[in-house]
Amino acid sequence: MKDNHGRTIDYLRLAITDRCNLRCHYCMPASGLDWLKRDELLSYEEIEQLLPLFSSLGIRKLRFTGGEPFMRRDFDKLLTRVAKSNQFESITITTNGVLTAPYVPLLKELNIHSVNLSLDTLDEKRFAAITRRDVFPDVMRTLDALMAHGIRTKINAVIMEGVNEDDILPLAMLSKELPIDVRFIEEMPFNGRGDRHAVKWNRKGLIEALENVLGNLMPIGTEPNATSENYSIEGHQGTVGIIAAWSRTFCGTCNRIRLTPSGEMKTCLYGRNELNLGALLRSNASTNQIAEEIEQAVLRRKKDGIEAEAARTPLEESMATIGG
Ligand code: SAM
Ligand code: SF4
Repeated sequence: MKDNHGRTIDYLRLAITDRCNLRCHYCMPASGLDWLKRDELLSYEEIEQLLPLFSSLGIRKLRFTGGEPFMRRDFDKLLTRVAKSNQFESITITTNGVLTAPYVPLLKELNIHSVNLSLDTLDEKRFAAITRRDVFPDVMRTLDALMAHGIRTKINAVIMEGVNEDDILPLAMLSKELPIDVRFIEEMPFNGRGDRHAVKWNRKGLIEALENVLGNLMPIGTEPNATSENYSIEGHQGTVGIIAAWSRTFCGTCNRIRLTPSGEMKTCLYGRNELNLGALLRSNASTNQIAEEIEQAVLRRKKDGIEAEAARTPLEESMATIGG
């Protein structure tokens, strides 16, 4: 599938639930969200109806995300069926790691391409303050299991002023001891409260902070559609990277579309919902009709996240309803 700007769309990010066992303050309020009811979620049957369609439209890469994907019952079974169907060149998962450790052997068996583990700090108390849950050891168990099974692992850390700046160095140093890619993400205004504040830790600040402590960062060739700029550091097994999610420097090569837990398709992280695939499926639309609507939505894509945001009502969502 090509969009109206000539960009190939081959990557689907599928958020299978909005529910989460953490309450990261940059993502949702302490009270959680107004969770979708079970019948408002795309069912697994509906997801498994849509995936072959996306595959036939040229989606090669699939990411499962949420909310927390391992919170949804029988996610492991869905994952197993989808992985064994061989419809995608790569399947990846984004997880907070709280419930993930017992499933790591299965991820290995299914040849899951990589796991993004969200971890904003290596300090147990600070972890509890950021996520409002005291479960740091569970996440570390998942990291250990991923390493023990040789699964490619990326750590995603949102760096926030006055919260976890002191973690930039320890997190970056994880890439010395372990063969992992540690990526620092600019905070985005998807906190479920519509709260928008200046972000100190942007791409520029993060690069400066990393270079101050680690010396020169050496840019390494990234995949053509990567959201992260990656750097190697002498003596490190892994890499560090920056995801300029707020500055939106990567929009020009964006190959991604998203499906929310309720089946809304988004063609831009910052854009509005473009197409209600859940409603379309339930109206008994034919496969051809659905494919046509997906292609049309992709042909209405805004040039970048700035344009997409300008064309919609103010951002009020939580990232848990978009998937990251
Ligand atoms: N619960 C899983 C997790 O945390 O990995 C998957 C869903 S979570 C919404 C996906 C990613 O979005 C996480 O890496 C998280 O750090 C990131 N995220 C959530 N809210 C964000 C925000 N306001 N700004 C930047 N990143 C955010
Ligand atoms: Fe949950 Fe992920 Fe949002 Fe944190 S970032 S509250 S782990 S969905």
